Amino acid sequence: MKHFDPEAFTAQSEQSFSQMYPALAALGKHRPQALKDYERILREARRFRREYIEPHALEVERAVMRDPTYVAEGAIRAASEYGFFSTMIPRAFGGGGLSFGAMIIALEELGAGCLGISNLLGVHGLALATVSATGDLAAMEKVSRLLTSGERAGRPHLLSTAITEPSAGTDVEDADFLRVARLVSEATPVRGGYRLNGRKVFISNGSIAHTHVVILPTDKKKPVETTFAFLVETTTPGFRVGRVERKMGQKACPAAELIFEDCFVPESARLNSKPLPGRAIELVLGATRGGVGAWGTAAARGAFERALVHAKTQRLDGRFLIDHQWVQIKLADMQRNVMLARASYVDAMLSNELFGLSRLAARNGMNEIQRLLPQRVLDSAAVKKVMTSRRAREGFQAAIDELADWEVDTASAHGSAAKVSCTDLGMVNCHLALEVFGAAGLRHDSGIEKIYRDAKLLQIYEGTNQLNRIELYKRGVNRGATGLDLTPRPGTPVEHEVQP
Ligand SMILES: Cc1cc2nc3c(=O)[nH]c(=O)nc-3n(C[C@H](O)[C@H](O)[C@H](O)COP(=O)(O)OP(=O)(O)OC[C@H]3O[C@@H](n4cnc5c(N)ncnc54)[C@H](O)[C@@H]3O)c2cc1C
Repeated sequence: MKHFDPEAFTAQSEQSFSQMYPALAALGKHRPQALKDYERILREARRFRREYIEPHALEVERAVMRDPTYVAEGAIRAASEYGFFSTMIPRAFGGGGLSFGAMIIALEELGAGCLGISNLLGVHGLALATVSATGDLAAMEKVSRLLTSGERAGRPHLLSTAITEPSAGTDVEDADFLRVARLVSEATPVRGGYRLNGRKVFISNGSIAHTHVVILPTDKKKPVETTFAFLVETTTPGFRVGRVERKMGQKACPAAELIFEDCFVPESARLNSKPLPGRAIELVLGATRGGVGAWGTAAARGAFERALVHAKTQRLDGRFLIDHQWVQIKLADMQRNVMLARASYVDAMLSNELFGLSRLAARNGMNEIQRLLPQRVLDSAAVKKVMTSRRAREGFQAAIDELADWEVDTASAHGSAAKVSCTDLGMVNCHLALEVFGAAGLRHDSGIEKIYRDAKLLQIYEGTNQLNRIELYKRGVNRGATGLDLTPRPGTPVEHEVQP
């Protein structure tokens, strides 16, 4: 039997933007600049995938299998040339000034080639989203400048986000569970700053990041009231990287343990004056869970594209597989799953623009105004002063506070729905692809067994799919996001009290 032919496969990913995203293309008639941005980033992501990811993904995979501390330097350098680490950073802070939505379109394209390499870029974006949601624009400016100057030299200043603890994963992802979480880490207030002690585990990019956004309570007995984000440099005394996991998939993006032993950070390392649990964290997760939806779609698509090429090039009983009706039905199901998944994360992305974190960036006029100004003006001290002023920070916080509860709930519900639907459909397509391939799919060079391992991780991080169902229930079913009026009509006997 002939082996899988990667040359033929590349030809499968050339659908136009409007074929892939008809809703966005239709809306784009009213938002021509957004449409141009989406089309451009899709083109660039497609080029990066073809020129770097497809030829190197399996080679990186094998290098990490041999040594889990292997760093995919080639991927980092190549992604830097495209500016993918700074795509979402405002132009006034030296970045590409594109929206979160544009970034997640790129993440699907790159993820269809390799979820590990796409994750290496995406978790860095999660850290940026967390910093921006704190409203601490001075800190955002600082990390952005470090990042973009490094990126121009091919060595971007990478970020990680550290929330998970050895005995608290799901429990730190939800404010109600956080109250009873078994936490081991704390930032104790001391003269001039904080002393950090404890451990974080499974932190993506933890062993290669230069700065870590570490989420810690200042009093672990009152985590909901006292949890904040802290910026910790890798070079800070008392900080070290522990075990780098030998994990099942997404090997290009390392997951590591972070250890804090009397690690002193100054007062300025704490990013926000308001605790994170509540609005800020809900806005971040509402946005980034849609991003994980894009990866679920990428898994569904990567599996579909490989199965399609296999079916077109391999014979069974003297006929090409694609000429067997049972194969056509499986391929039709796989195509439908890609379309459904993509529609779900695009909904989350638009919901985020209307009601979530992306709306706040637009409301501050950051990207629109900056697009009109030349870069030398944006780089000036005067613009930096305005952008990082107390007024700008308070304006951002006021914009967060002004959002109605139903708006935050709606963005969260769409994020969770996309996260669950897309990542589950990603797994379904891997399963279907293996049925089309048979034993050939078990070979490493088929690429299918890798997507299968990669896709499983998506159901676990950014809140497990079980937790996201609970979130969807809380915000989508039990609170206002359904639009159902659950108040009983006067005089109607009810068996259950409606829960708040
Ligand atoms: C590849 C990878 C990368 C990661 N990257 C990061 C990162 O960058 N930063 C970071 O902070 N963390 C990261 N994580 C950690 C991730 O967020 C946690 O794994 C996740 O939150 C689940 O926590 P846990 O693994 O401790 O599972 P547990 O919380 O121990 O849960 C075990 C099982 O019980 C279920 N469960 C738990 N509580 C409930 C409940 N109340 N109701 C119903 N079911 C429940 C869960 O759904 C799960 O199936 C990463 C994980 C992976 C796999």
